[in-house]
Amino acid sequence: MDATAGGKPRDALAFAALDSDVRLAILDSLYERTVEPGPLADDATYSTIKSDVGVDDSGRFSYHLDRLTDRFVTKTDDGYRLAEPGREVVRLRRREVLTSDASVDTQPIDRTCYRCGGGLETAYRGGYMVTRCRECDGLVDHELVPTGTVSAISYPPSGVRGIGIDTAFERAHAIVDQHLRTMAGGFCSECGHGVTATLMPGYDRDSTGNGGDSRFTHDGLVKLSCDHCGQRRVSHPLHVTADRGPMAGFFAERGLDPGWDRFAEVMAWDTTPGPDGVRFESPDGTVWTVDDDLHVTRDDPDAAGR
Ligand SMILES: [Zn+2]
Ligand SMILES: [Zn+2]
Repeated sequence: MDATAGGKPRDALAFAALDSDVRLAILDSLYERTVEPGPLADDATYSTIKSDVGVDDSGRFSYHLDRLTDRFVTKTDDGYRLAEPGREVVRLRRREVLTSDASVDTQPIDRTCYRCGGGLETAYRGGYMVTRCRECDGLVDHELVPTGTVSAISYPPSGVRGIGIDTAFERAHAIVDQHLRTMAGGFCSECGHGVTATLMPGYDRDSTGNGGDSRFTHDGLVKLSCDHCGQRRVSHPLHVTADRGPMAGFFAERGLDPGWDRFAEVMAWDTTPGPDGVRFESPDGTVWTVDDDLHVTRDDPDAAGR
């Protein structure tokens, strides 16, 4: 544990320094006044911040400002500016992840199920955007999500409050798409540490319980796990490798943008075991094989027949 000389963990001291309405207001003031990042930021003067926060008592104001200085706030010759940890605190609050109980009741969206073609509906609750099919069992079989779930994404409340559910749906899937591609490239988009990719063929799960994840009704998915912060995501291997050949070319040719459309496209393809990995067949008969290292090879039906 990263402890200080006094024995208190550094994280606990940092959180204790934030335990004040006045100090959070000081960070907000500095964020507005010195919004350019790093060395580009302007300084804000003592009196400007004091006026923004609305504390008349100079002794009281100075006490609170001092509690933030060095870790969250940097003192300069001309005043104060926000240090990166202070900026991070403001961004965390604006994502509303700690405090908001925002929810969006179930609404139909203009998309269809990749399994059955049925209508889809989306709801937001408890920090998750969950999309389900109204006509089939969906992808995820778990007590925490409704029957028919085809997609479940952790997403900040700020992304749905005041934003239509159709737009929020598009953005959430586009953002997670970006995270997935980074993680499939070998590192975590949240913390910068290494990521382990595990292909879950799934065909033998009924007999042995291994080789798959019984929570998913689709074989051949990939699990991406960060070795440090524990971020874990599951998706289709042809979706997470969309920025490399041959998938990059496939998606580009069809005009499929990052997000739901790419995911839904490949989730509809047939999946079978193969000698070199998991095989997926697109509607035109092309076979795409993914190995344990997420290398994708493409076999066109014309080439195979020669
Ligand atoms: Zn369905
Ligand atoms: Zn991580």
